[in-house]
Amino acid sequence: MTANRRFRNVIRIGPVQVATSYDDRGSEKHTAACTAPRCNTSADYDSRAAAELAAHTHRCPVR
Ligand SMILES: [Zn+2]
Repeated sequence: MTANRRFRNVIRIGPVQVATSYDDRGSEKHTAACTAPRCNTSADYDSRAAAELAAHTHRCPVR
């Protein structure tokens, strides 16, 4: 799952993991990925704050 990217500063907020990574050109990306079964939502954000906010407000579509 983390084949070509290095994740740093991984934290978990509920079922959602937030991590900072760097792409091929060395620019920062922030990813929020839900690890709940049958959810698997993930998205990239330009800032760490945005990714963490998304993690805090994430709700799985599966109840
Ligand atoms: Zn979810």
